[in-house]
Amino acid sequence: MKIAVAGTGYVGLVTGVCLASKGNQVWCVDVDETKVELMKQGISPIYEPGLSELMKEHMDALTFTTDYRSAYKDADVIFIGVGTPEKKDGSANLAYVYTVAGQIAESIEKDCIVVVKSTVPIGTNDKIENFLRAKVRRDVNVFVASNPEFLAQGTAVRDTLHASRIVIGVENPEAGEVLKKVYENFDAPKMVVNRRSAEMIKYASNDFLALKISYINEIANLCETVGANIEDVSAGMGMDPRIGNRFLNAGIGYGGSCFPKDTKALSWLAAFNDKEIKTIKAAIEVNDSQKFKLIKKAKKYYDSFEGLTVAVLGLTFKPGTDDLREAPSLVNIPILLEDGAKVKAWDPVGVANYKKYYPTEIEYCKTIDKALEDADICFIFTEWPDVKNMDVALFEKKMKCPIVLDGRNCYPLDAFKDVHIIYDSIGRPVVD
Ligand code: NAD
Repeated sequence: MKIAVAGTGYVGLVTGVCLASKGNQVWCVDVDETKVELMKQGISPIYEPGLSELMKEHMDALTFTTDYRSAYKDADVIFIGVGTPEKKDGSANLAYVYTVAGQIAESIEKDCIVVVKSTVPIGTNDKIENFLRAKVRRDVNVFVASNPEFLAQGTAVRDTLHASRIVIGVENPEAGEVLKKVYENFDAPKMVVNRRSAEMIKYASNDFLALKISYINEIANLCETVGANIEDVSAGMGMDPRIGNRFLNAGIGYGGSCFPKDTKALSWLAAFNDKEIKTIKAAIEVNDSQKFKLIKKAKKYYDSFEGLTVAVLGLTFKPGTDDLREAPSLVNIPILLEDGAKVKAWDPVGVANYKKYYPTEIEYCKTIDKALEDADICFIFTEWPDVKNMDVALFEKKMKCPIVLDGRNCYPLDAFKDVHIIYDSIGRPVVD
């Protein structure tokens, strides 16, 4: 089977490499020539644990190209994994998906199945199939299948090779059989449903996770006021199998390329259909304010950041990725800079991307020690293992004034019992 994948981002490249690792010949297509040149040399353009190694191992089964015609013309299956970012009104921007659909329509010379992995609003797969059928050669049959992606950045390779489920949304049973064959050697339960249900499973799943995060964050905020400890509360809640213990970590809110846009897109779609999903709207509202939680906390300690040295640990939206999309650092650091702070930031993989936004305004530090040196306050935005595993005495040793605002609850409170540090985290008593 010849497989093509359109888009070599977090979803497309991981999908392509994992499919190659299962014995398929995979053509990975991207419009970004720089990315393609890197991949041709066996270098992954994104940071994703395990991806480079797997890619290098299977280079002879992978072709990287910008030449979509040669990739699509005789492919049996074409995956679409391009971005579907948020439009100003909150709806999903399908321009990239339709560009690929147009390129497929003008290229294919034999029957094929087009598989939409990108997250798209309910009904989009039907529209893409109609679009393709109206444009392809008359002697060519094309079927569209929805195959939403559930990987999480940071664990994308593992999530793909051992997925919690593979959802296959089809209107044509033969297309379902072909996809089952494609995924034959993947260790995951497979579920075949109609296309609209598959599209809805993706949004409903992501939005439920976003809701769970906003819920625990609201409970955490109340814990601070009433003197409870969110760590204990989450642990106690999570022991109930009906609730489950994952996604109950309180913090400064979700970011990334998916939860923010997928909550807004479903809300938009509901409104477009004269419906309202009140719970999702609330999740969005809570998250929008939770992002600023540390800045608000900082006001307890300083009236202004003018002239202060601020240490920032973590720039990416979560550990294990170099992705900055919707990262809390991107809304908080501008406030600190505008207010006159000198910002010293550390992140193990996010600096190159951050420099695209702030090339010179921030001092980027190679070590945590350097970032903490002489700081008047420290903000933790990402729970990188290096941060979680460090000895908290370092804050006292290096900082001018050891005030630590932790947006990710990296340390147990008793880690601070023998040091003189103000440690203010989310949903837990302040240690002074
Ligand atoms: P991304 O922005 O990382 O990658 C998209 C890639 O598509 C880019 O490399 C871009 O250059 C390329 N591209 C654009 N137009 C193209 C074209 N005409 N032909 C070929 N390539 C083209 O995006 P992503 O994070 O991988 O997300 C892709 C989709 O998967 C989105 O719909 C997203 O919602 C969904 N998704 C993402 C994740 C995630 O964790 N990132 C998880 C599940 C689902």
